Amino acid sequence: MRALLPALLPALLVPALLALPAPAQAVQLRFPTGSSHHGFFYPTAYRDHGGVTDWACGSNSYSGHRGSDFGVGSWSGMDAGREVRAAGDAVVKTTHDGEFDRCTTADCPGGGGFGNYVELLHPDGRSTIYAHLKQWSVAVTEGQALRCGDLLGQVGSSGYSTGPHLHFEPRDSGDSSFEPFAGSCGASSSAWMEQGDYGGLPGLSCDSAPTCPAAGRLQCGDVLRLRNDGAGSTGSHGAWGCATFRYSGPELSLELATDRDEPITLRLSGLSADLDLFVSGDLACAPADCLAASTEGSTADEALSFSASAGRVYAVSIDGYDGAVSDFTLSVDCAGAWPGDDPGDSADPGMDSANPDGGEGDSTDGPGSDEGEGPGAGGPFGANGPDQAPGERVALSELGCQVAPSGRGLLWLGLGVPALLLRRRSARG
Ligand SMILES: [Zn+2]
Repeated sequence: MRALLPALLPALLVPALLALPAPAQAVQLRFPTGSSHHGFFYPTAYRDHGGVTDWACGSNSYSGHRGSDFGVGSWSGMDAGREVRAAGDAVVKTTHDGEFDRCTTADCPGGGGFGNYVELLHPDGRSTIYAHLKQWSVAVTEGQALRCGDLLGQVGSSGYSTGPHLHFEPRDSGDSSFEPFAGSCGASSSAWMEQGDYGGLPGLSCDSAPTCPAAGRLQCGDVLRLRNDGAGSTGSHGAWGCATFRYSGPELSLELATDRDEPITLRLSGLSADLDLFVSGDLACAPADCLAASTEGSTADEALSFSASAGRVYAVSIDGYDGAVSDFTLSVDCAGAWPGDDPGDSADPGMDSANPDGGEGDSTDGPGSDEGEGPGAGGPFGANGPDQAPGERVALSELGCQVAPSGRGLLWLGLGVPALLLRRRSARG
């Protein structure tokens, strides 16, 4: 963490205003093909709800079937090439190709019965499997970020298959298959954007709903103390294009814009659990828009840099790995070092000696070690270094923000997130 937080750690004990994360925002699915091929598909076997009962209480299934099968016009259709496309924005989790693809026995080896297949991880933590694909048709690679509707491969008859069809199997964040169709014997709500009729096909509309809406606005020079399950957090985002790990949140997303083309470095410190840091070029946080990530393990600090373009709005997201929750300090450093972050800065000897390992200062820190650098030494924003030009930091009151009685600022970010602003620079060279 270096010397980002001189004298201010006791202030971190300011009670956070906590709120439960919003319920998971599920990604609605489109039918997994393209518009020119949609008409070739038809359902051949739905998911089995027990006793060979499908979602509409019909018998269009077979015992133990965990997905939905869609035919394409037998071998001639397969040979003509029937596209399989992503049912939503996603990161490619698994691919398998090279297996024999004209299986008729329902017992051809490879791919664990799926034959040639692709599994996608969606931002809500759910996944979708596209199985029995044509040999060497898989067009994506593991870790690749995709948009809804991107080409994955072609329909085949590989694995446990008796003829060309697509086996489409959505799974929840616990990796259990689920029924996407709503019906009297199926799901209570549809997982499709447009479900369509029984015996027909779901539609091709993609879900464009934002999955990590920004809860506040960052500025260059901000050093903020926040929490990933605090106000404005969500539990909706499970996949990031820069990482194939599965995140179950909660996460906090903040927007960031600068008026220059410049490199920006973000740092996350003071963690008590495994949080990770992402920058997306789009507030929708679609996986394909991930620009940079830092995914260190455990409570290690996170840091990343990216090249920002003037006027563009970026999303900065802090996500808990495997449900991790922690307070954290987020710093936004635009175009070079923050004056107080100079490695040669001697302004913070107390901080350094109290935390020789770099100071994972969190709420367990007692107030004692930093008392010597209280407001008297550094003003309300902490210890100013000797290289600190007068007036380079602006009082929170001048920014129109609420100021805590202690003189330490409790900033309300633009969109309503209560945050402890540790400091912000007002000018930069
Ligand atoms: Zn199937």
